[in-house]
Amino acid sequence: MATAPLSGFFLTSLSPSQPSLQKQTLRSSPTVACLPSSSSSSSSSSSRSVPTLIRNEPVFAAPAPIITPYWSEEMGSEAYEEAIEALKKLIIEKEELKTVAAAKVEQATAALQTGTSSDKKAFDPVENIKQGFITFKKEKYETNPALYGELAKGQSPKYMVFACSDSRVCPSHVLNFQPGEAFVVRNIANMVPPFDKVKYGGVGAAIEYAVLHLKVENIVVIGHSACGGIKGLMSFPLDGNNSTDFIEDWVKICLPAKSKVISELGDSAFEDQCGRCEREAVNVSLANLLTYPFVREGLVKGTLALKGGYYDFIKGAFELWGLEFGLSETSSVKDVATILHWKL
Ligand SMILES: [Zn+2]
Repeated sequence: MATAPLSGFFLTSLSPSQPSLQKQTLRSSPTVACLPSSSSSSSSSSSRSVPTLIRNEPVFAAPAPIITPYWSEEMGSEAYEEAIEALKKLIIEKEELKTVAAAKVEQATAALQTGTSSDKKAFDPVENIKQGFITFKKEKYETNPALYGELAKGQSPKYMVFACSDSRVCPSHVLNFQPGEAFVVRNIANMVPPFDKVKYGGVGAAIEYAVLHLKVENIVVIGHSACGGIKGLMSFPLDGNNSTDFIEDWVKICLPAKSKVISELGDSAFEDQCGRCEREAVNVSLANLLTYPFVREGLVKGTLALKGGYYDFIKGAFELWGLEFGLSETSSVKDVATILHWKL
């Protein structure tokens, strides 16, 4: 696999069926193409009021509101005390809420005590969110009314992106995607499970929506350096005696990548094995995408392309590669596994 470095950016092509290298063309300019996916409704065009994303009221699906606002300009400690009093009153009125609400009273009391104590430098999650939104609104939202006006009508992203939930690898941040450009799914180790209506409906729904309704043109699966999920995949015994409720079953999705790494790099250091597996797991996910009929159809018709990516946040580098399967409409995941020499 050859690379063409450009300020830490590597474009590569891995083609199991055709070994010749083929450069991918990345967006040549950071244009923000955000066409509406549907015609604007008459209701949205007349009143262009700015949406209030932080509401001055609790957002609960609970049967009754139980807490006063987290944040308002004039809120002082008295407001917390009033909130707690209101809570206590509610508990008396709503006996069935007692257990849940009692815990919340304790939390609120602790927050009040912490808030009124001397350490104002302590991390304040509400303030952090508030300041984050204020900065976004001032610097982005209000400076680009054309973009946000279009986005109010609909979305037409060119990319569907699978990325890890890792807090260091947000694809919109790393790839400078603007709002409306990428339809993103994030999960442990950026894995795409095979088509399975029972076990993986959440991921399936996202792919179905992206491909059939949003008509994305590219699905990009992005792995990354020092991935905890891949480390788990490489280190869990995966013998059925799970020590986690969900994680082991989830990362098993990319077991073929682990098998390949063990067979090829069995004698290498664990870190090297993990680094290789971070990339191989991306290829397994790309292959799993082929188990979705609408993805296969898009590939055969040429309306959809699959790409693998790898973000190395230690070196500050990014790789992008295409994976060509020589697909026909009848290719199964087994065919792909054969092409890639996996043992299923
Ligand atoms: Zn990760």
